[in-house]
Amino acid sequence: MNKKDITSLKLLLSQPKKIVIVSHKNPDGDAIGSSLGLYHFLIKLNHEVSVIMPNDYPGFLKWMPNQDIIKDYETNKKIANELIEETDIIFTLDFNSLERAGDMEYSLNNSEAIKIMIDHHQQPSDYATFMYSDVSICSTSQMVYHFINMLGEDHLIDSNIGTCLYTGIMTDTGSFRFSSTTSTTHRAVADLIEKGVDNSAIHSHVYDTNSYNRLQLLGCALNNLKVIPELKTAYITLSQKELNKYNFRKGDTEGVVNYGLSLQDIVFAVIFIEHKQEGIVKISFRSNGDFSVNDFARNHFNGGGHTNAAGGRSNLPLQKTVEKFISILPDYKKDLNK
Ligand code: 5GP
Ligand code: MN
Repeated sequence: MNKKDITSLKLLLSQPKKIVIVSHKNPDGDAIGSSLGLYHFLIKLNHEVSVIMPNDYPGFLKWMPNQDIIKDYETNKKIANELIEETDIIFTLDFNSLERAGDMEYSLNNSEAIKIMIDHHQQPSDYATFMYSDVSICSTSQMVYHFINMLGEDHLIDSNIGTCLYTGIMTDTGSFRFSSTTSTTHRAVADLIEKGVDNSAIHSHVYDTNSYNRLQLLGCALNNLKVIPELKTAYITLSQKELNKYNFRKGDTEGVVNYGLSLQDIVFAVIFIEHKQEGIVKISFRSNGDFSVNDFARNHFNGGGHTNAAGGRSNLPLQKTVEKFISILPDYKKDLNK
């Protein structure tokens, strides 16, 4: 985002506006954290702000300040469409292609509002009036922190804004361990703690609220873990039957893919999760080092994301999806053994 954009945005936001904030389907900690953090900030600038998510989000995020103002598009289509139609400005956070907004895509496409993208995913589409895209930053929440600073409004950051942004930064960096975590990230969260964020409480809210069923499901997933040593790959499958057995709730499989990556000498980890109702298999890809799961997901599984974390989907049945994956893998033997 250049100086001219910042000047234009300062002017745009200097008068009260109707603003809608949206994020991607299956919102994660960064989607919710960046959206609510920006919400709290814009409210302080006296704007009329709504937050709409394409669908529901996990229980371990349902404690964040004012999270109850979030509208779920799936269950509030009429009101949400009206808001999108009548708004002056739409912030699209933590995604960079409107199809990632699920069923909201059509309304967003048709809206004449000024669109402002804040996002850190690779290969952004060209739909936004103002684009703040930086793939080197660990999270959209950190970008919202920088955005507020660029507007010269850092004095407005309080514990509500900080709590939301901290949560997004923490979840998207795997608690500050992924290589996307930089000294700037640590400076940002240090600043947020100084502004009143209770960092330890946030870790507890997000990570210490497991149900017994969730741990049993994790046990099942680890039991299903397969390793292909010569391709430095580990993968996990979870069938709908297994999910049902442990009374699967949204978010229960979050982070499970990382167990594959924690194995010594593994550089590529994948989890395949069957969604019978939607007729798809949702796939998460993770890697260590240079192996680009963004490319892999884009080329073979209709997805994308970042170099080391991406998602995708398959319309084949679970077993066929895994077979397809295993048949493709040898083509990457060289890249995986670099
Ligand atoms: P996850 O595996 O946790 O669902 O997603 C990992 C990363 O890839 C996230 O940054 C997410 O936004 C992105 N991602 C997940 N699924 C998709 C998808 O279907 N398409 C694209 N383009 N990105 C995805
Ligand atoms: Mn993110």
